[in-house]
Amino acid sequence: MKGKILIFIFISFFFNTLAQIPLRPDAFPPIDEPSVPSKALLMASNVDQMAQWNRYPTHSTYLSMMQEWADNHPELCRLDSIGTSVQGRKILCLAIGTHLGDSNYPEFFYSSTIHGDELTGMVMMLRLIDTLLNSYGRNPRLTHLVDSLQIYINPLANPDGTYHGGDNTVATSWRYNADGIDLNRNYPDPFSSTTPTPTPENTAMIDYVSHHRFRLSANLHGGAEVLNYPWDSFLSSVQAHPKSDWWQEVCTRFMDTLRCYDTTHFANVTSSGYIAGGDWYVIGGGRQDYMNYYHDCLEMTMEISTTKRLPSHLLPSYWHFLAGPLITYIEELLSLLPHDSNDIAEVPDGVLWEAYPNPTSGHITLLGVTPGDAVSVLDLSGATLLHSTSSTLDLSHLAPGIYLVRYGRRAMKVIKTGAPH
Ligand SMILES: [Zn+2]
Repeated sequence: MKGKILIFIFISFFFNTLAQIPLRPDAFPPIDEPSVPSKALLMASNVDQMAQWNRYPTHSTYLSMMQEWADNHPELCRLDSIGTSVQGRKILCLAIGTHLGDSNYPEFFYSSTIHGDELTGMVMMLRLIDTLLNSYGRNPRLTHLVDSLQIYINPLANPDGTYHGGDNTVATSWRYNADGIDLNRNYPDPFSSTTPTPTPENTAMIDYVSHHRFRLSANLHGGAEVLNYPWDSFLSSVQAHPKSDWWQEVCTRFMDTLRCYDTTHFANVTSSGYIAGGDWYVIGGGRQDYMNYYHDCLEMTMEISTTKRLPSHLLPSYWHFLAGPLITYIEELLSLLPHDSNDIAEVPDGVLWEAYPNPTSGHITLLGVTPGDAVSVLDLSGATLLHSTSSTLDLSHLAPGIYLVRYGRRAMKVIKTGAPH
């Protein structure tokens, strides 16, 4: 009897402990999710059939929707081709704004379905595009966004994965690109020596983001419901993101908005609805850390539906609770702007401007700075951390992370090390 009690206690302890470990379905490749019956994944074979937003577009419907928006709203948007997938499908991005191309208007980026079978985000992004374009001039809040920002939306980052079973079905979508590569484990990783395998999808995306100055972005996934902020490469106890406090505030605002519409979703990983990525589980080669580290872009990963292939009739209910927070997240960029200061001198054109060593563990020397001119160091939110009129700066008191050194209208990324290897 005593033995049975001990076994019972052990089993209870084991399962209680297990229950406390947050599970991320994303973490278990390459097992395919048990198929959702294909009849639950209704397809729209023309644009009109998308009217109720309760179907998934066939590939040609998707292309038509993106093209029609560009054709119907040339004053509000532009259709970009980011590149082409292994099987030759276009990777598209719709740029929305009344000041596209003007660098005075900050750039926001949403991208979805880099894992081809995580379908919900794709339709949410299409509906977001439709809402932004058709609300312009009618809804002051959304009009203000379109007038103030450049909003880039890439609904489908991995078209070959989504249309793995052919252009007319998403029932056999899978996670990978056509060569079987997990694109979200295949970005340059600042904290790992593993070299990514070049893929046309990621090479094109890297080129695209390198030609922009995205300040804030999110990559939408499925398989869980939680906001996952950087870093993915570390436990937060090992290396917290320099803007962890800011991320938690942003996630809280997102969740506060979501809770206005829904009280049950976004609770299956943490009760707060958000988590530092590495505390959930550590990955390498993800796009989130790549964007944060190499592009000074504050990107988080949004896991928006526990079911990857969400039955299509549920898509409108997900939009009901996600539309508000997705828009709230774009609005974060309005308050993220580092306000231009005109109190310091311009760097004359043609002058080589450099900081070395970079990365640095503490002291950097600036080349190309006129002695006596003011230089400032900012964090990625644009908050000024120090002013100096010297061409050498001491950053040793700053936490490891990425900072901007600003001189005149130029800003340069400086990496403060201290991160474990
Ligand atoms: Zn995913």
